[in-house]
Amino acid sequence: MLRLSDSPCAARGDNTAPHFAGARAHRRLGHTRALLMRDLFVGLVAAAVLLPALRLRAAEQPAPARPNVIVILTDDQGYNDVGFNGGKEIPTPNLDSIARNGVRFTNGYVTYAVCSPSRAGLITGRYQQRFGHERNPRWAPGNPAVGMSLDERTLADVLGAAGYHCGLIGKWHLGAHPNFHPLRRGFHEFFGMIGGGKRYFPADLTIDDPRAAKNEGESYRTKLTRGDQVIGTTKYLTDAFSDEAVAFVERHRERPFFLYLAYNAPHSPLQAPDEYLARFPDIQNPKRRTYAAMVSAVDDGVGRLLARLRELGLEQNTLVFFLSDNGGPTNDNASNNHPLRAGKSSPYEGGWRVPFAMQWPDRIPRGQDYNHPVSALDIFATAAHAAGAKTDPARPLDGVNLLPYVNGQITTPPHEAIYLRMYDRGAYAVRSGDWKLVIPAKDQPPQLYNLRADIRETRDLAQKEPEQLRRLEALRTAWNAQLIPPAFPGLQSEGLAPGAAKQKAKQ
Ligand code: CA
Repeated sequence: MLRLSDSPCAARGDNTAPHFAGARAHRRLGHTRALLMRDLFVGLVAAAVLLPALRLRAAEQPAPARPNVIVILTDDQGYNDVGFNGGKEIPTPNLDSIARNGVRFTNGYVTYAVCSPSRAGLITGRYQQRFGHERNPRWAPGNPAVGMSLDERTLADVLGAAGYHCGLIGKWHLGAHPNFHPLRRGFHEFFGMIGGGKRYFPADLTIDDPRAAKNEGESYRTKLTRGDQVIGTTKYLTDAFSDEAVAFVERHRERPFFLYLAYNAPHSPLQAPDEYLARFPDIQNPKRRTYAAMVSAVDDGVGRLLARLRELGLEQNTLVFFLSDNGGPTNDNASNNHPLRAGKSSPYEGGWRVPFAMQWPDRIPRGQDYNHPVSALDIFATAAHAAGAKTDPARPLDGVNLLPYVNGQITTPPHEAIYLRMYDRGAYAVRSGDWKLVIPAKDQPPQLYNLRADIRETRDLAQKEPEQLRRLEALRTAWNAQLIPPAFPGLQSEGLAPGAAKQKAKQ
């Protein structure tokens, strides 16, 4: 700042006997000083007047639009049954386009190797073993104890509180009692099924009142629900869900929305119309052929949804995730988890490493592979961050916001480790860096694999690498100490559930 004592006049300190040139110089300097002071004054006044106005203008400017969020979940789809993981037999150009327009996660995990616990982790962003959701719930619409803890907040709760319009289309499977209904878990709209599965042809959906279904098998024959009203449908189930998804984004194009599109395909029963079966004349195995047709129907539906987003001008600013809820049960639905070991309900890679991709054209560079392990838990944290939504500090998230990782701002792995526990079997898995610990069942010794060298988990290095084994075992023990036992009886306690005996035999 200019001080008066620094000015030429003040420095001279004498204007009593100036000679002519000196007087002129003095006048010039005095004039300069006056101009300077005037400019300073004008500047200050201008700043006083304009700065608040500028601040106001900045506040009035719309913040960058918050993205829409779409989570597309399939059910029991194999790791290899998408083109973007190398599958050739079943073309999935639309699912592949998500990976191509954004990120393919080569090491993407869910939090459990069967449906319901995996969905509980995804929708809360927390390891579901923290709140006792460690079994597939029985179909028990009269039992308020069989479902996802009401103390937990869903992604719909959190995004809804931030002004998002939230819809679930498809499979819920987080409790059939009315207390657990999606409309009471943050969703503003619901179209689909409350239970764990559904037959695919409308003629098979013969039970009008879901409460009349006595077990899981009968729940597969109940009609669909819109909101909390039972409704009929005339469409193949996968097509019905895709049509609803397209209509949802059309209805809500003007506002930020969260769409959870949870297909039950390609979960059994294996059912597909001729239109889709006809695409696979060369597949001889009838189960595999029907499975391929079911995956193809999903891919068509996702293609229609993405095309509509594009037509509506929403594609650039919509964050889309795609993944399967667990690995493929290869014997049950003829899925393919190549090159991973085992499948659904297993702690080996085929059970819980899944096809996983994400796009957000406005914010994520396209066409990249991301190879550090990521989790379905990260969907919650990423979406909440992108939406500017507040999460509950009392229930800390286990996932992380993936954006700085896929944008290259952070190059270290997002997770020190990713965990799996299956309480009833005493099974565990811990993935940390290239290493993986597996305890296949209670009382079995831990196995250790280096997945970089041995993705198929064929060479147990537990004896050769005691330090790695100790490190992963310490991680497992510390994580396990934070968990509680299962809070409700599972599907297997029902005895009559479809596939229960088979699943038990497999385990
Ligand atoms: Ca599943």
